[in-house]
Amino acid sequence: MLVVTKFGGSSLSCATQFEKVKNIVLSDPKRKIVVVSALGKRNSSDTKITDLLYILHAHLKYSVPYQDIWEMIESRFLGVRDELGIDYPIDEDLNKLHNELNKNISQDYLVSRGEYLTAKLMSNYLGYSFCDAKDLLKYNYDGLLDEDETEKNVKYAFSLHGSIVVPGFYGSYPNGSVRLLSRGGSDVTGSILAKCLNASLYENWTDVSGILAADPRIVENPKAIKEITYAELRELSYMGASVLHEETVFPVQSLNIPINLKNTNDPLNPGTIIKNESNDTSDLITGIAGRKDFVSFDISKDHMSGEVGFLRKALSIFEKYNVSIEHVPSGIDSFSVVVPLDSVEKCQYELVTELKRELGADVTMDTNIALVAVVGRNMAKRSGVCGTIFQNLGKENINVRLLAQGPSELNIIIGVAREDYEKTIKTLYKGLIA
Ligand code: ASP
Repeated sequence: MLVVTKFGGSSLSCATQFEKVKNIVLSDPKRKIVVVSALGKRNSSDTKITDLLYILHAHLKYSVPYQDIWEMIESRFLGVRDELGIDYPIDEDLNKLHNELNKNISQDYLVSRGEYLTAKLMSNYLGYSFCDAKDLLKYNYDGLLDEDETEKNVKYAFSLHGSIVVPGFYGSYPNGSVRLLSRGGSDVTGSILAKCLNASLYENWTDVSGILAADPRIVENPKAIKEITYAELRELSYMGASVLHEETVFPVQSLNIPINLKNTNDPLNPGTIIKNESNDTSDLITGIAGRKDFVSFDISKDHMSGEVGFLRKALSIFEKYNVSIEHVPSGIDSFSVVVPLDSVEKCQYELVTELKRELGADVTMDTNIALVAVVGRNMAKRSGVCGTIFQNLGKENINVRLLAQGPSELNIIIGVAREDYEKTIKTLYKGLIA
């Protein structure tokens, strides 16, 4: 049994957090693969090492003096090393990097040093071997992971060392140069390693005790979700809940390896388990999430329902403008096409003109739409859920402007005016989850 354990930046912000990580890792001998992000914020006004490295890169590129930034970076790593009382010569790694700084240094390489140096400290502190992610995660020049090569490298490294610390957030191209993943990518590194080693569990440690059932900026003290399926997580993340990097689930999902989201500051809290299927039927609704900025193009024409191909013609105009469609709620002689506002910001007026001209229809645009998703696997084939939703919203005088439910009955999407967004989430949380 093998557990891949990934720690985010807030779990690695200072020596005290390193100590918590060590206690967690060493308390379970199955935790043999540790993935780390770069040192994170120590408090809300602090700056993450990754952000400092991006700033450093910009200074170098535009030949702006950078010594102050460099010293901030250097002192963070030296500070952790000294406070931990370990004798790892991190100053040598830092001097090497300092000598490499120049106007043309690769951004991917420079930014990846945050994870690299953090992993060097952590491996020494844990007594685990350091394995450079650039020797493990191999990417083709098109940016796709070379899965076979990566699996071979990871298996070999694990068989050689037994317990390893791997920096997250990067791999390398065939020529060995560093390829950085997108922000938050250490989550993906952990997932890839878990897949390569067919781990029994992928643990992802942050500073919250799992996924919350609603946005804590809107709902006071929302419940944490005990169990969620990959499909539910996708719905909630897509609708704005920020949980894991969106590519995290794919590698582990293929082997049905569960992900456990846990809190480094509260390790006994069970957190949230994410897996393919869940038998937990204790909650009807798993969570509520939403996004504020949508536009609805409302299209109507007399006798539209008898015109074969009308919908296709309309949708192909959106396709021409490269706009991805979110929902298409419909009536008999009218329908709406709901899309994210930012996707039509530059082309909304041309789109309306073309829709009117090509379809001979009335087209109006409503830019004041927020969408709220009520997500729950246990809603399927259960009567009364919509009734409860409407009853709660009605009592609060919230007007539902559109409604969509997919065939899987995994979620119900409610469109409301943007000014009703927060109130809708609060009301639904209170009526369905609290
Ligand atoms: N340190 C990187 C970031 O801030 C990657 C990560 O934390 O996963 O995005």
